[in-house]
Amino acid sequence: MNSFHAERAAAFTRDVPHAHWHDTALWFVRVKRDRGAASVPEWERLRDAASGIKAHTLSRLADYLEEFERNAASNGIQVHWARDGAEHNRIVGEILERRGVKVVAKSKSMLTEECGLNPYLEARGIEIVDTDLGERIVQLAGEPPSHIVMPAIHKKKEEIGELFHRKLGTAAGLSDPKVLTEAARQHLRRKFLGAQAGLSGVNFAVAETGGIVVVTNEGNADMGTSLPPVHVASMGVEKVIPRVRDLGIFLRLLARSATGQPVSTYTTHFHAPLRGGELHVVIVDNGRSQILGREPFRRSLSCIRCGACLNTCPVYRRSGGYSYSYLIPGPIGSVLGPQRDPVAHASLPFASSLCGSCSDVCPVKIDLHHELLALREEIRSQNILPWSKRLAMQVASFVLRHPVLYRASGRVARSLMRAGLVRFGPAGAWARQRELPEAPKESFRELWKREGGGREA
Ligand code: SF4
Repeated sequence: MNSFHAERAAAFTRDVPHAHWHDTALWFVRVKRDRGAASVPEWERLRDAASGIKAHTLSRLADYLEEFERNAASNGIQVHWARDGAEHNRIVGEILERRGVKVVAKSKSMLTEECGLNPYLEARGIEIVDTDLGERIVQLAGEPPSHIVMPAIHKKKEEIGELFHRKLGTAAGLSDPKVLTEAARQHLRRKFLGAQAGLSGVNFAVAETGGIVVVTNEGNADMGTSLPPVHVASMGVEKVIPRVRDLGIFLRLLARSATGQPVSTYTTHFHAPLRGGELHVVIVDNGRSQILGREPFRRSLSCIRCGACLNTCPVYRRSGGYSYSYLIPGPIGSVLGPQRDPVAHASLPFASSLCGSCSDVCPVKIDLHHELLALREEIRSQNILPWSKRLAMQVASFVLRHPVLYRASGRVARSLMRAGLVRFGPAGAWARQRELPEAPKESFRELWKREGGGREA
């Protein structure tokens, strides 16, 4: 196992003011989410309903996907199936090449990030323009998103001003968000007008109607897909929901959980291609069926990508999105990543305090911290923990099974704390980040004995 997360987190926290700013910015969004949730008296009932609908859908996933395909096809939508990212990219590439597309306007889609669509199309001479503001910022910077809803949350406005100056030719030293947004709007408008196809993700696909729903706050998915004649929408198999009336539950939960808004600014329903145009939906598996077959983890497929678990996670807020080896950071990424590649992402289930805050805020009630704990056990049993951690756990296990040793180690630990030595060495990583309490003079057991503990009054 590598110590990817710990090393990256250490680098992130070295810039103390920036790390503090990141933590504060995310906490602001978390507080907005709390206010949004508190404004809905039936919030917990909505969560229960959403969780139930997702569990039911996952139990009959193939049926609902086929129902979606039938209804979508009868509306004139062309449905494609992709086993993995490579097949997804090939299908999208062929659609675009057949139409001679050279410039594509793309709205935010973590699935296309997962499949590596941008580099694939760029290698074929197709310019792909991310049109979500945050996505465009990270695309111009040559970076991946650091958050699934706010991809450029790690960048301060001064950094964005400097980036726009270099890449878009704006005046030097700009940092006013309104001015920067206007500059981006002008730049993107030209790209929208020049695009010959639009790509989008899919927030929900409704089996009953064969329609897809795309949610944004900037309207970029609408602009990018309604101007050109070709729209290609990429969706993971888990995005299907049974009925149109289920949508209201998810949309109410999604907006408030993501940003604290009562409603997302644009919720667009696509039921058919534009007149004379083409609408393609590419349904992608890419490992999801395997997760579906793994009972302790299948609920992770219920995720509606609201980002609430990231915003609340004390580890994510203080270590930043780039500390995570998987493209989806935070608690949900730490569950999904190791299931794709347990060796490459073995550090992620340990990047958690297991405080359970992620599970508490999750609008679809994914038991994230228990899944993380179960993954730790899997990783331990697969022997991919580093030898230092394995040794430490074996020593701890031995000490805990021998009371004499346990008492002696308590005495040693208290002496080290009093002498301030507990902060040194690899074992001091935890202690260095905290204000430690004063070491007590005696252990609880000694105190218990002295006070006559256990005797009848
Ligand atoms: S796991 Fe839950 S809280 Fe986290 S992004 Fe998914 S739906 Fe939102």
